[in-house]
Amino acid sequence: GASSGIGATYADRLAKAGYDLILVARNEDRLAVFAKGLIAETGRLVETIVADLSNADDLARVETTLKTNLAITLLVNNAGLGASAPLLQSDVTKMGDMITLNVSVLTRLTYAALPAFASRGAGTVINISSVAALSPGLLNGVYAGTKAFVLAFSQSINHELGAKGIRVQVVLPGATATDFWNKAGMPIEHLPKGIVMPVGDMVDAALAGLEQGELVTI
Ligand code: NAP
Repeated sequence: GASSGIGATYADRLAKAGYDLILVARNEDRLAVFAKGLIAETGRLVETIVADLSNADDLARVETTLKTNLAITLLVNNAGLGASAPLLQSDVTKMGDMITLNVSVLTRLTYAALPAFASRGAGTVINISSVAALSPGLLNGVYAGTKAFVLAFSQSINHELGAKGIRVQVVLPGATATDFWNKAGMPIEHLPKGIVMPVGDMVDAALAGLEQGELVTI
């Protein structure tokens, strides 16, 4: 989920910190322009994989990369979508799509990366959850449920594999200024200005938490 918003900002910060990157998202043009800019600015190697992670074949391609590219040391599970409508106004098919991307895809990508990390005794997974995980009344309840899954799943990875050299951080952003809100059916202008973080501040705070060894960063 690296073509915009939080994921693109992680890519920017990680490239500047010296990481080579593999960027995954659906929007081919946006990924290509973004990757070109990052290469020019940072001199890092930046590959792109155009993939709709909700599509089984596309997801399988990304899983294969995670399983076979032994240079991968860090996975950022960021692709996700939200909704703001309450239960009686929301379409169950869209809820299912959200569960697929926010829960099933994140789970499969984590399963693809962790065996290699475990055999090397090193590797980091950053899972993007949300404060909605702790406050299910904030937005759509299915969204909150998907993000609660990400929190619990991440805590369980730390429990099972933390002693084996695997680092996991679960990030629970509050309201952050990205396209997420428009796509979720609630324009960000409808939120009180004082609770909305610029996306750069959000990612910098989360990376500071990672550096300090936090498991959960809110
Ligand atoms: P965003 O700007 O909409 O970014 C979502 C990213 O995910 C885009 O790069 C999008 O790229 C990618 N993506 C979406 N569906 C995809 C799919 N099927 N396959 C591959 N890539 C896909 O929103 P954001 O705010 O940065 O959201 C990122 C994460 O932060 C989400 O998990 C969200 O739940 C979480 N979060 C956001 C906020 C907030 O206030 N913004 C707060 C808490 C948590 P393409 O469209 O090119 O595929």
